[in-house]
Amino acid sequence: MTTLRRPAALAVAVAAALAGFGLNSPGTATADRADAGRARVNDKHVIAISVDGLNPRALKRLGRAGTPNLHRVIEDEGAGTVNARTQLEMTVTLPNHTSMVTGRRIKASKGGHGVTWNDDTVTKTVQQAAGHDVASVFTQVHAAGGTTAVYATKSKFWLFERSWPKAVDTNVIQVERNGAVVKALRADLASSPASFSFLHLGKPDQVGHKHGWMSARYLKAVAQVDRLVGTILTQVESTPSLRTNTVVVLTSDHGGIPGTKNHAIKTNREDYRVPFAFWGAGVRHADLYALNPDRAKPGRARPGFGAAVQPIRNGELANASLDILGVGAVPDSLWNPAQDLDWK
Ligand SMILES: [Zn+2]
Repeated sequence: MTTLRRPAALAVAVAAALAGFGLNSPGTATADRADAGRARVNDKHVIAISVDGLNPRALKRLGRAGTPNLHRVIEDEGAGTVNARTQLEMTVTLPNHTSMVTGRRIKASKGGHGVTWNDDTVTKTVQQAAGHDVASVFTQVHAAGGTTAVYATKSKFWLFERSWPKAVDTNVIQVERNGAVVKALRADLASSPASFSFLHLGKPDQVGHKHGWMSARYLKAVAQVDRLVGTILTQVESTPSLRTNTVVVLTSDHGGIPGTKNHAIKTNREDYRVPFAFWGAGVRHADLYALNPDRAKPGRARPGFGAAVQPIRNGELANASLDILGVGAVPDSLWNPAQDLDWK
């Protein structure tokens, strides 16, 4: 279990002190140039939530009574769908999460981020995996004057802070402690909420690997995560400064095949179907496909890169979040680069 907390306020203070002494690092100059052509971040907050290994079948099985909060976000109050798609190359945790924060596909030779590993023994950065510089939702928010935070329950998520050390202001990694990372997020929401917070809840995946997807224990884990999400929704609603300007963006990295401990068969619908939803200030209550005629409902299919009209994909998270924050798209991203995934 490891935790690193680097409060944004400290980074800002250091930057101010450097400016006061007339010091200017090359990094600062780059940020200044980037700022010149881009809107400053607005006063909104995005809380991106990835429920690791959430097969939407679990929501149906548990129903509203068992997962009231995920139902609120995806169906009852937000703009959502349970029929979004993962990345095409792999239905595996770290590659899909890297797509969520970069807006890129996976395969490096095709412009993807190149993160194909899924453990913490590889200590490469995303840039090393891709073979060149790779921007992310973190670098975009940071360059626009905003703040970012990561709260994750698997140690492999050190990848983000390692790859974008100047742009990830707060990094809380508590291995397999879903309640602890939500507590840390909620404390920061109460004191100094980041412009962009990324929350990874790993419990359903962890239990799925041990006891099988859709097993009684897996369903219990989904219900537990639902309650944790509920504490975040309640805090947002009951805090005047959050209620009017906070949007939750929720998705998953992959599902999992019922009765097995496997989610890595990329051509299996149980693995490639995930939810994607917006909830909160200004979000229209609608089916996300109805709100987005320029995305195609995939039915049960797995549309490829060549599909003229693409389904909604988990990799749209980065540019959708930036859209909410009034910041331009991640350079060289593939998913939602026009930031035209509508949520209001
Ligand atoms: Zn996963």
